[in-house]
Amino acid sequence: MKYELKNGWNTEVDKEIIFKFSEGYKDFLTKCKTERESVKEAVRLAEECGFKPLESYETLREGDKVYAVNKLRSLFLAVIGSEKISEGVNIVGAHIDAPRLDLKPNPLFEDGELAYLKTHYYGGIKKYQWTATPLALHGVVITKSGETVDIRIGDENDDITFVITDLLPHLAMEQMKKTASDVIEGEQLNLLIGSIPVKDTEKSAVKENILSILGEKYGICEEDFLSAELQIVPSANAKDVGLDRSLIGSYGHDDRVCAYPALMSILTTEACDKTAICMLSDKEEVGSMGNTGAKSDFTKLILLELMNKTGEGATELNLLRALDRSFCLSADVNAAFDPGFPAPYEKRNCAMINYGVAISKYTGARGKSGSSDASAELMSKIRTLFNKNGVLWHVAELGKVDAGGGGTIAQYVANLGVETVDCGVPVLSMHAPFEVVSKLDVYMAYKAFHAFFNED
Ligand code: MN
Ligand code: MN
Repeated sequence: MKYELKNGWNTEVDKEIIFKFSEGYKDFLTKCKTERESVKEAVRLAEECGFKPLESYETLREGDKVYAVNKLRSLFLAVIGSEKISEGVNIVGAHIDAPRLDLKPNPLFEDGELAYLKTHYYGGIKKYQWTATPLALHGVVITKSGETVDIRIGDENDDITFVITDLLPHLAMEQMKKTASDVIEGEQLNLLIGSIPVKDTEKSAVKENILSILGEKYGICEEDFLSAELQIVPSANAKDVGLDRSLIGSYGHDDRVCAYPALMSILTTEACDKTAICMLSDKEEVGSMGNTGAKSDFTKLILLELMNKTGEGATELNLLRALDRSFCLSADVNAAFDPGFPAPYEKRNCAMINYGVAISKYTGARGKSGSSDASAELMSKIRTLFNKNGVLWHVAELGKVDAGGGGTIAQYVANLGVETVDCGVPVLSMHAPFEVVSKLDVYMAYKAFHAFFNED
């Protein structure tokens, strides 16, 4: 049989169901611009569906629904299956961090009688895309007294916003000669936050004024920036794109476009044979490092806790068996073919908008370097599962062989012994402040993950 791709809208799909699912997703996107906000909202939605904290259970049995928050920035949810954990589990793993600008620990300064916050970008960005566009400030500050202040200022629906300025074209002769990576340099990504000086003060009068506003409105002093996690994200909220409303434009599709369907699929899983686990990781965009990234031992801890509470014994042998017999869909985005930039794509093996989820047997760069490679047997299992459940899918590599590359959490999960394959939603303008996905593909991700958790 010939391998032929088909646009999803030319198949038997229900537009109404697809569009309805995307409303929930847009709401999630608008509420969740950081990993902390994503964890909070995911927990809220999970509790509505009867999920309880893992630590609230002494013992676990089939059908129990639990969640475990890891240091406020990553999250595990599980539905206990009828089989033992050591028989293996089904994991869908997405990430909830996204490229952005972090504030430096000592960010506030004044120059030219304007006040700014200095940033250090997080993840792979085209720096010039972050200038001359409305930006918001999200995060937490822990004050001297130990109080946590939640910050969320400058979104589309607020009456103030922030911006990083760019040079006017009239005076940009020298700037325009630079290569795109240097047009805006990292140290130029300074957020404009004020311009009124405190009257009759000699030095840094504008900065002084900003500090007094921070003190009055938020109870924050300058030193408090040292114990803070403040992130600059685009102000824009998620919106339908196109006259046919077929696409969604938003900040942070990578990887909330997989995290949300993964979350929805575990929230709608009632009973399963293998324990279903939804893993929402942090720090993927900087290499899955640290104690909230996919490389951390938290996955093992969760499996040990589950084995302990189901009574099968939290031994190392059981843990290694569980990992060795588990399956994982590494739910991350892929680069959708962009007709405006055809050169780096290989048309027979690239992701396409409206063609359903993209399965990537491997990722990596320069000869599959830095990638796990899913086995033929696993590809067969997934392909059969998706075909049986009406999931539209296609295979995709991230661009041409020597065009560049990238990675996901797949390799770190696979290193544990888990049979892992990448499977996610195609994205246009990936890592830009406003990325684009197809509603049909988002819904297919939900269908795919739901089928994976509920396979018989
Ligand atoms: Mn990603
Ligand atoms: Mn990414």
